[in-house]
Amino acid sequence: MKISELFKQKRTVVSLEIFPPKQDTDFDSVLHAADELSALRPDYMSVTYGAGGGTSRNTVAIARHLQQDNGVTALAHLTCASSTREEVSGIVDALGASGIENILALRGDRAPGKEGCFNYASELIEEIRRHGDFCIGGACYPEGHIECGNKETDIDHLKAKVESGCDFLITQMFFDNNVLYNFLYRLASKGIGVPVVAGIMPITSAASIKRVTSLCGAVLPPKHRAILDRFGDNPAALRQASIAYAVEQIVDLAANGVRGIHIYTMNKPDIAQSIMHSVSEILR
Ligand code: FAD
Repeated sequence: MKISELFKQKRTVVSLEIFPPKQDTDFDSVLHAADELSALRPDYMSVTYGAGGGTSRNTVAIARHLQQDNGVTALAHLTCASSTREEVSGIVDALGASGIENILALRGDRAPGKEGCFNYASELIEEIRRHGDFCIGGACYPEGHIECGNKETDIDHLKAKVESGCDFLITQMFFDNNVLYNFLYRLASKGIGVPVVAGIMPITSAASIKRVTSLCGAVLPPKHRAILDRFGDNPAALRQASIAYAVEQIVDLAANGVRGIHIYTMNKPDIAQSIMHSVSEILR
């Protein structure tokens, strides 16, 4: 099913993200995690795409497995920053042949010394549109994309991306809902009207949050920082506190009418399960 149809049917659409294995030897364990996440019956699951890495070929295989074997609508990520036009075409055609109707079109991070066929995700979106009738999503950044120094300019670029053929947007992770509400207000004032899905990342290790926030520029509010300071060296307590924090974010987002919740699961079904159980009635 196209994700654009899900937005017509449900008040709050729920999705889970999984990433393919870094090495082929881990393929079965990722498939196992995919099966456990599928059992939580999200509205759709997304499969990330390793820009230029060996994991890219597994994106199609995992998306196909989710949809054909588990009956879960799949959203395949696709990047273009370090791929040739032929590689991009090959993946889009393979997705179409596998019955995958949804693609998250991304530029990806530029690798030094590697030229991609497109400069921006908007060009990839136009290319996918030329290939067939896909439902296409794009990424957006409530705190601004790390490369763009001016948030207004970043939103102007986002508007151009949506106009190139984006059906919906998924946000980068954020830890303060007011940051999202402020962003949504700015999008509305620029006439960007596609559904925006809120990306929620439950943090389960102090080291990972430092790495992740420095890569994407997301800011930790004092409330979250206090959790890390207090429980950073106690994994079981940090896990519990992070799940509670994510649940609180989701309840507030759903109560304020956000159209979708996307959980960055980090391939940890037990954490996604705890969150999903806590909000099962809220997101029904
Ligand atoms: P774009 O929309 O092209 O924007 C990139 C930058 O270029 C921005 O700063 C923007 O302001 C600027 N820009 C856009 N258009 C123009 C223009 N015409 N002129 C000048 N500047 C312009 N990465 C992966 O490798 N694999 C994944 O699976 C993956 N999944 C992701 C999922 C989500 C929900 C998110 C939020 C990110 C994901 N990423 C992934 C990371 C993403 O690839 C990087 O953030 C990347 O740096 C930007 O990709 P984009 O599609 O947002 O780029």
